[in-house]
Amino acid sequence: MGQIKVLDRNMINMIAAGEVIERPASVVKELVENSIDAGATKITVTIEDGGRKLISITDNGCGMDADDLAQAFEPHTTSKIKASSDLLGISTLGFRGEALASIASIAQVRALSRTKDSTGANCVEIDCGTKTGLGPCSADYGTTVQIRDIFYKLPARRKFLKTANTEMGHITEQFTRIALANENLDLTLIRNGKELYRLSEKDDLRQRITELFPIPSGDISENLIETQSSEKGLHVHALMGKPLISRTNNRFQYVFLNGRFIRDKFISHAIKEAYRGLLEPGRFPVVFLFIRMSFEDYDVNVHPTKIEVRFYNSNLVHSQILGALREKLLGTNLEMPGKLPEMQHTGNTSRHSPPVRDSRIADAMAEFFRKHRPAQMQQQLRFRPSAPGEIHAVSREKSAQYDRKYLQIHDSFIVAQTEDGFVIIDQHALHERIMYEDLCRRIRKNKLQSQRLLIPESFEVTVSGAEALKANAELTDKLGIELVPFGPRTMAVQAFPTLLSGVQPLDFIQDLIDLLDRKDVGLDAERLLDEVLNMAACKAAIKAGQKLTDSEIEQLLSDRQNAESASRCPHGRPTTIKFSIGDLEKQFKRT
Ligand code: ADP
Ligand code: MG
Repeated sequence: MGQIKVLDRNMINMIAAGEVIERPASVVKELVENSIDAGATKITVTIEDGGRKLISITDNGCGMDADDLAQAFEPHTTSKIKASSDLLGISTLGFRGEALASIASIAQVRALSRTKDSTGANCVEIDCGTKTGLGPCSADYGTTVQIRDIFYKLPARRKFLKTANTEMGHITEQFTRIALANENLDLTLIRNGKELYRLSEKDDLRQRITELFPIPSGDISENLIETQSSEKGLHVHALMGKPLISRTNNRFQYVFLNGRFIRDKFISHAIKEAYRGLLEPGRFPVVFLFIRMSFEDYDVNVHPTKIEVRFYNSNLVHSQILGALREKLLGTNLEMPGKLPEMQHTGNTSRHSPPVRDSRIADAMAEFFRKHRPAQMQQQLRFRPSAPGEIHAVSREKSAQYDRKYLQIHDSFIVAQTEDGFVIIDQHALHERIMYEDLCRRIRKNKLQSQRLLIPESFEVTVSGAEALKANAELTDKLGIELVPFGPRTMAVQAFPTLLSGVQPLDFIQDLIDLLDRKDVGLDAERLLDEVLNMAACKAAIKAGQKLTDSEIEQLLSDRQNAESASRCPHGRPTTIKFSIGDLEKQFKRT
């Protein structure tokens, strides 16, 4: 007898669900997309226990009548395409007719729906593919779909779910994409009974970005450059982050094609090229890119979750995006603005209303206290200019020892005589190495010594950023960083490592969050700590272009003697190039 059997319908759906429904966040994506396709202007997403317990989506869209509601959860049922020719120009987010059937095959589902012109609503209940109820009920117009106990009959899949916080992070990411693509939608996200986001349909894009991407160092939208271009049927609208707010990974590149979030290697390449020469290696720009083009010019039917599309003319897409972004970036003055102390603004206070003025004075005072730390803290600062008398006393004493056999050139390199020749030292790379070794040594023994900030600095974080900090509390504690939560999306730094006193706490925390929040690369604790120390060393080290006093140069040269591997910076680049007298004599044809 033959071995081949036709799979039963529920098996087919469960297999399809494996492709489309990876985790609770995929359910959120599919359901919200259905609400948008149904013309909703207001959508509420309610999550309990990271979506394991409950995912509920309520919209005010067109709704379904009793027949459609009964039909919608059957496999391969859709109202969005009718003939194969429709596949050539898909204008809706969905069209495959498999999301609801897939979801219903792996969870307990209850859906209520009412069309605008009907007096009553209908309800359907399905338990892992088996219809358990259908009938009239009472509900407002629109649709609510509730999903409970996802994967409860599939222990193997349920096991793959991560902690509630991690799953919530994925859900928030899907919510963010939808919120960016649909600025006119009223969108709410509720987690365990508490409102996490309430985005109004009145928001403009910049307001939305500010709400969705709180950054510790200030308002992200102030650092976005906007450009638009329209040519050959392709409309490009971009908000590009200035190099100043670049990140350590490319997760902050959002590309939307006709309202659909996509990933595309041609477009990623165009973005990277647009920023060529404007960013340091290893940094990635923040970019929000909205592309509009005819539905006939690409195919969305190439990926089950439609995150990839196929452009019929990808060269045109690449060159036009690159051209528009690059032209705008090169035409913009991207110099780093010097950070003026807040005190300077107080001269104009008459223009501000009293509450604003009060807060400005408070800011100015905070800034003043920050600058004038108690003397005992000042001593910890490395490579900060000391009082003039002090410099001379130290350098006179020490320069005898070195007999001034060194010279700083271009404020970046130090040329120093050695016993049998001379060395050229990259001041940043060497200091970075020294700081790195110092940090490693100290942290191996104990946690880093920290100093309390006179005025705690508060900052906003994304939900996943806050989770990442929470999950790595041990690490931040070891670093000597003390953080306290102020609300679901606000935190404050209370104490910061003494060794990093030259670094802006909020800048550092921003990059720390980026490092900790890289879900894609599962770094073990040791590698993660190493990366963090690397980053700390790089930020705390003196920079190229920084003029050094004699005593600072001497300190650097003497620390160099004590470093374990002074010849390479932590990234493996050389810190020092050696020349021997022998080489010189040969070059000058003396031998
Ligand atoms: P698709 O979106 O690919 O058509 P789905 O399985 O997601 O397939 O949905 C099946 C059908 O159910 C849709 O085509 C639509 O007609 C209907 N539907 C789903 N969700 C909603 C909703 N929120 N409001 C109104 N109709 C809906
Ligand atoms: Mg759908």
